[in-house]
Amino acid sequence: MPELPEVESIRRTLEPRLLGARVSGASLRRPDVLSAPPGEPRTNRGRQLLVGGQITLLRRHGKQLALLTHDRRACIVQLGMSGVLRWSPEAPACDPSHHVHCVWTLGPGRGHLWFADPRRFGGLTSLRDSSLPSHWAALGPDALSISGTDLRRALGRSRRPVKAALLDQHALAGVGNIYADEALFLARFSPRTPCCSLAADAWDTLACAVRTVLAQAVAAGGSTLRDYRDGEGNAGRYQARHSVYGRAGLPCPTCGSSLSSGLLAQRTTVWCPACQR
Ligand SMILES: [Zn+2]
Repeated sequence: MPELPEVESIRRTLEPRLLGARVSGASLRRPDVLSAPPGEPRTNRGRQLLVGGQITLLRRHGKQLALLTHDRRACIVQLGMSGVLRWSPEAPACDPSHHVHCVWTLGPGRGHLWFADPRRFGGLTSLRDSSLPSHWAALGPDALSISGTDLRRALGRSRRPVKAALLDQHALAGVGNIYADEALFLARFSPRTPCCSLAADAWDTLACAVRTVLAQAVAAGGSTLRDYRDGEGNAGRYQARHSVYGRAGLPCPTCGSSLSSGLLAQRTTVWCPACQR
């Protein structure tokens, strides 16, 4: 958490607030959340945090979101486990218990953007926008538009269970535990199936299920399990539509069988033993 639909919902809610705004200041309350290109001095923090730039684009790849400015700077936000990226009219209070690590002031009179991350698995990365493609090349194709061919090429020879493979950000970017379980349920594949046993058309079915589940979740503003909120502080609505995730022991929405759960790739996995063979 958050996965692709949550990050895309943040992107969509922030876009009208941020596009065209000038970054008039940035206050980095915890310097170690920002990583910069090697050799860049720490005195360039303001520059690395886009101060003086006009925001022209918000781009997402997988679970990463990049803010780009007119002068070709980029700042990538990774939300990790518990990250928050939010706009508000006023700057958030400087209270250490809120774990707000960076606050951007947007002008003229365009409010504030802030990044909080209590568990600090996330962070900010400063880049030239020309470095963005190579930075993201380490990730697989974006899961919202993944094709069966891409999936098969990346995973077709793997002996890993398909559930574990779907979480591999080098194969496809953006899927985490929730949407892997939901996509496998929609495709009717057992999460334990070894990738190398799937036929070519099965990869098309799986890619289609991944795209469908993610698109539906984006349309519903993502899933709020605990603390996820979009860029304006609103909860998602997709959690009410989960078929299997978080529903171990409850009836399968398709056949009524009790949903099974087990540990796969160190992650709790829920599936229907009757529908997903
Ligand atoms: Zn079932």
